[in-house]
Parts: sequence; structure tokens; C-alpha cells
Amino acid sequence: MGRGDGLERYERQMRVEGWRQDLVMESSVMIVGVGAIGCEVAKNLALMGVGRLILVDNDVVELSNLSRQMLFTDKDIGRPKAEAAAIRLREMNSHVEVEAHYRDVRELDPTLFEETQVFCSCLDNWPVRRWLNSMAVEMDKPLVDAAMEGLVANLQVVIPGRTACLECHGEELVPREVQLAECTLRRRKPADLVEDLKAQGIEVPLSVAETLFNAGVKTIFDLKYSQADLLEKLERDVREAVREIQERLKPRMPALQSIASTIGGIAATEVLKIIHGGSIGKPMRGLLVYDGSSGRFTRVRLDRMPDCFVCGDHVREEGVSMSIDPGEDVASLKKKIAETLGLPDPEILYKKWRLRDEQTLRELGVQDGDIIYVETSRRYTPLPIRLILGGKS
Ligand SMILES: [Zn+2]
Repeated sequence: MGRGDGLERYERQMRVEGWRQDLVMESSVMIVGVGAIGCEVAKNLALMGVGRLILVDNDVVELSNLSRQMLFTDKDIGRPKAEAAAIRLREMNSHVEVEAHYRDVRELDPTLFEETQVFCSCLDNWPVRRWLNSMAVEMDKPLVDAAMEGLVANLQVVIPGRTACLECHGEELVPREVQLAECTLRRRKPADLVEDLKAQGIEVPLSVAETLFNAGVKTIFDLKYSQADLLEKLERDVREAVREIQERLKPRMPALQSIASTIGGIAATEVLKIIHGGSIGKPMRGLLVYDGSSGRFTRVRLDRMPDCFVCGDHVREEGVSMSIDPGEDVASLKKKIAETLGLPDPEILYKKWRLRDEQTLRELGVQDGDIIYVETSRRYTPLPIRLILGGKS
């Protein structure tokens, strides 16, 4: 059946002033996180006839999801969420092309990002939200980010170069405990990880902690949010142990379907406004906070930060420069990067090397004007920094 056959289906929405069903049917939207909010957004966009929906989620349906993740039923328990949702959405509107990706979004084929017109982040954790924000900004594509906890939900629309991104006010908006967890910098020993896990009631042999350390997993935070492909590199028994730990550490925040449907409805409307390019209204600015307990909507003004390390003009156009003393070692350079750019976990790449903390820049033969690349979980691509030798910054 051709798409044109379905126009009668959309007859009522086409009466909305400025509505362009052709634009809706040509659009492609990626929904990252098919939980409570993701289900709502996906349902809305499928019903309204968005041409291509790309669903990304690396989790499976559990019984405790069924009180709010409205695309799933009992028979979906154990199935990947993205796949179960895709089946349901195709039943709701067979004119929509729905794709399911049972993966960590950070491991998707980048061509999928290029083919996406609008990203919708419906994730329950900051590390991946931040990564997605950076990816959208670097690809110069709009992002609608929606999240909730208990009776409170919030929403932010990021139009790269025009509105604030999630990182512009990350220091204030990201919960302190997430910031601190990320900042547990890397001068740690495997025994520290064993201790931290013990404090959470999880016993792990030192040998497992050592293996994890070698794979770059040094904190509970790393364990919670490490990419799935890291697991694939581990020995089978360590991998099983990590899966079990991750299962026990899974964030289980209070969540309500009624709040999810409220914020999911608003998120879908914002996606549609972006697709329409202004004819049904301009995308929302600032941060919208809905507090269900008081029934209050609050709009927090958010200005774009010109020096934001993700969306700032100089980062996007000229890159970042940094003055360094060649006698400095890599550890102190990392510290400087962490402090001046607010990146808590920088890893430095220079030429073909990943630099070790104790090396000095002089030993490495770093020349004035050389570029180093900073890898961090906060960014999609490494951040290039031009080094200016000799100066004190
Ligand atoms: Zn920004």
C-alpha cells in the first residue's frame, strides 16, 4: 500500500493550521530509550504518520515495566524493548517504517545518525543523555530531551548553535551525585573498586576487579554505564559477573505512567514543530519542568553558553587552544583539561598513542601547535586541542 492511500487517516490532523503531512511522512526520527517516555513519544509519532521511526534500546521488557511502558504486554516480557515496540507500532500504523535496534546507542552505525532528522532522547541516565547531546550538536541536528523522576518531568529542546545544549548548564542541571561519581578520577586501585562494591552489598574477587581495571572500568559509575561492547571483550566468567553487578546496580527511580504520557506528549509535539520548520509553532526554548504534585509548569530560561565545550562557537568553529609547559606530565595536562573544560574523565590521544599519566610532553616530542585529541564519555567525537608551548595558561 502506498503512503498516499493513508491520507484519509490523517484528515483531522491535516486541518491544523500550518500542518504539512508530506513533511511528516518524509521525516525520520530516532527515539533513544524505549521506556515509559519513549513508548509514549513513539506511539504519538507513529499515529501521526512520521515516515521513519528508528527505535534504540539495549534493554528487555520486564514485568515491572508494564505499569507504564504502554507499548508492551505480558507476552513481551523478556523481549528486547525496541523490537516489541516496533511490532506494536506497525500494528498501529502500517504506513510508518519502524526500525528496531537492540543496542547501546553509542555502538550504532553512524550512518543511522546521518539519516536521522530529529533525535529524541528518552533515557533514564545522564551519561548516555550527555553523549547523545554531544552527538546531535556535532552532527548539527535537533534533539528533544525528555526525562522524569517520580512526579516531576522535564524537557529541553536543543537546536545546535541556537539554543542551549544539555552541557551549557550541565554544572547546575546534572545532579551532584552524577558529577561526583564521574569525578572520582582515575588514581585508583582495583582494591578500591572491591571496597566500593562491598559497600553496595556486592562481593567481587580482587582478580575480577583487576581484569575490569585493565579494561578501563575503575569505578561503580564505569560499571553502570560502560558500553555493551566493552563486555564483549571480557572473559566469559568476568562478563557474567559484570552483568550480574549491572543488574543489581540498575537505576530504579520512582516512575509514573501519567507523568510519562504528559511529558511524552509534549516531546512529540516539539518533534513535530521541528519537522515543520516553524509553520505550526517555534520549538520551545529553555527548560520545561512539570511538577505533577502541584500541577505546575515552569519554564527555566537557559542561555547558550558561548564557551560550552560541546556547542560553544569557538569549539565548533576554531577548536580549543591550551597553553602548556613542555615539562608538564600528562597527568597534570589531564587535570588542566578537566578543570578548564569541565571534562571529568579525559583520555588523551596524540598521534597514534593513548598517553600515560607519567609521560612528560617533552619526552613525547610535542611541538608547538600540535593537536591532541581528548576522549571523554561526554562527547561523541574526541575534542581536538591545539597546544601552545611555553606559555603559562
Ligand atoms: Zn552547550
